[in-house]
Amino acid sequence: MTKPKLTLAFVAGALLLFGLQSFATDDIIIDEDAISDDQSHLAPAALNFSSFELFEKPRFVNAGLNPLEIYSRTQAVLKHFGVPDEPDFSNDLASLNGRQTWTGVQALASILDPDDQLTRFATATPQSVATFKDYDSKTMPDMHVALSPILHDDGPLKRFAATVHPNDPRPLKGLRIALDPGHMGGDTWDQRTGKYITDHKGHTLSEGVLNLQTSLLLKQRFEKLGATVLITHETLAPVEKNITWENLNIATFAKQKLREETLDHWFQSLLQVAPPGPALFSAFDMSKQVQHINAEIMRWEYFILRADLQARAKVIEQFHPHITLIIHYDVGPTAPKDSHGLSIKHFDAAKAYVPGSYIWNELSSREDRRNFLHHLTDPYAWEGSVALSQKIVQSLTRHLGVSRDSGIDSRALSNTVNLGPGVLARNLALNSKLFGVMSYVECLFYNDPIEFQKLIPHDFTMQIDSQTTYYSSRLVEVADALEKATVEFATTFR
Ligand SMILES: [Zn+2]
Repeated sequence: MTKPKLTLAFVAGALLLFGLQSFATDDIIIDEDAISDDQSHLAPAALNFSSFELFEKPRFVNAGLNPLEIYSRTQAVLKHFGVPDEPDFSNDLASLNGRQTWTGVQALASILDPDDQLTRFATATPQSVATFKDYDSKTMPDMHVALSPILHDDGPLKRFAATVHPNDPRPLKGLRIALDPGHMGGDTWDQRTGKYITDHKGHTLSEGVLNLQTSLLLKQRFEKLGATVLITHETLAPVEKNITWENLNIATFAKQKLREETLDHWFQSLLQVAPPGPALFSAFDMSKQVQHINAEIMRWEYFILRADLQARAKVIEQFHPHITLIIHYDVGPTAPKDSHGLSIKHFDAAKAYVPGSYIWNELSSREDRRNFLHHLTDPYAWEGSVALSQKIVQSLTRHLGVSRDSGIDSRALSNTVNLGPGVLARNLALNSKLFGVMSYVECLFYNDPIEFQKLIPHDFTMQIDSQTTYYSSRLVEVADALEKATVEFATTFR
C-alpha cells in the first residue's frame, strides 16, 4: 500500500526540485468516493474526466472556474456562514528561519506530502518555502520560512544530550517530558469514546485507563531520573475544562469544520452553482453536508477529536517539552456483532506514528498549512521523532515479545507512509498540532486474545480519581520498555 505512495511522493519531490507545477491551474480535487453521491447532478461538467486522470490523481477539471474565482467564492461562502477569519501565523514560524535546508525540504516533502499538495499552496526554492492564501493561483503571499545552505548541528534535545554525563544517577535532569495518555476513562466516557473491550467472561479493559496507568508509571520513573514531567491529565476526565460535552456549541465547531472541508468534492462542486450571491448561498444552506456538520451527531467529533485534542496540544505547547510521548493501545478486527469483543485473530504488535503523510484535503486551513510548514522546516524535531519512535518500537517488541506493526496485518493504516518496521508517518489530529520531538505510540493490541489475558490480572493497585484501580505486571513491562527507550534516546541523541 505504502510503496507506490512513496514512489509517487518521490516523483512529487523531484517535480518540486525542478520547480514544475504538476497540475493544471484549473484543477480541483475530488474525493473518489464522493463521485457517486447525490452532489453529482449539480456539476455535470465537473465529472468530465478520464479514468486515467482519476487513476493518476484524484482531481478533475472544474467547469471553467479559474483558481481566483474558486478562492473568492470560497471566501464568500465562509463569510456567509460567519466563519471567522483565521489569525496570521507568520510570527509562529520566525524561529524556524535558517534551520532547514533545500535538500531537507525535498527529502521531507515526500513523506509529509505524498499527495503532492505543496505545489498547490506553496512555492519552494533553495532559499525559502512560502505559502499563499489562494491555492493554485498563488497571488496572495501568506507565510514564509527561509532555508539554510547548510544544516547546523543543533536542536534543543541534541544540546541536552551533549551535556549528559555517563553514569549520572539522574541522567534526565533538566529534561522536559510531556506525556499524553490517550482518551478518557470511566463508564460514561468509555461509552462515548467506545474505547473498551469486554470478553465473554465479563472482564473489561478500558483503553483510557491503560493509557493513563502507563503514563502515570512513566511520570514517576522519569521524575526519579531527574526529568520535569507534564502529564496532560491525571484523572479519567477530559483535558478540555472550559467546554463540557453537554454545553459544547455545535455551530461554533461546525464553522471550523466547514473551513476544513473547502477542498472537499461537495464544497468545490457547489461553488460552481453561481457567483457569490443568493443562489450560491442558498445552495450551500440547503446542502446535506452543511446540515450534517451542524447536526447533533457531530458532538462526538467536535468534543473528542477537536475540543479535547486542542486542549491537550495547548498544554503541551505551553510546557515546551524536549520530548512528547502520546500513549495509546490499539485493537485488531473484531466480529461484526461484537465490536467491543476480542480480536478475531491473533495479532499483537507495537507501532509509533510521527507527523506526516498529509492527504489531499488536509491543508485547507491556514492553521493546517502553518503546522505543515512547521514540520517541514524543523529538521531536528523530525529526525528526533523518527529516532525516538524507532527506539520505542524496538524496545517494545524486544521486551514484550510482540512484532512491529507495519500495516500489513492490521487495519486502518491507510494514509500512512511507512518509515521502517513499526514507524509510520500519519497526519493524526494531535501529532499534526505538536512540534518538537514526539512519538505517538500504540504500545500493543489490547484486544488480542493472548494479550488481553496478560493485561487483566489485578497484580498492583493505583489510585486514580481517589479510587483504587488495578493493573497487571504486563503493564509494568510496557512502562519498562518505554522508559528504557526514552532514557536511551534522550541521553544519546546526537
Ligand atoms: Zn487510542
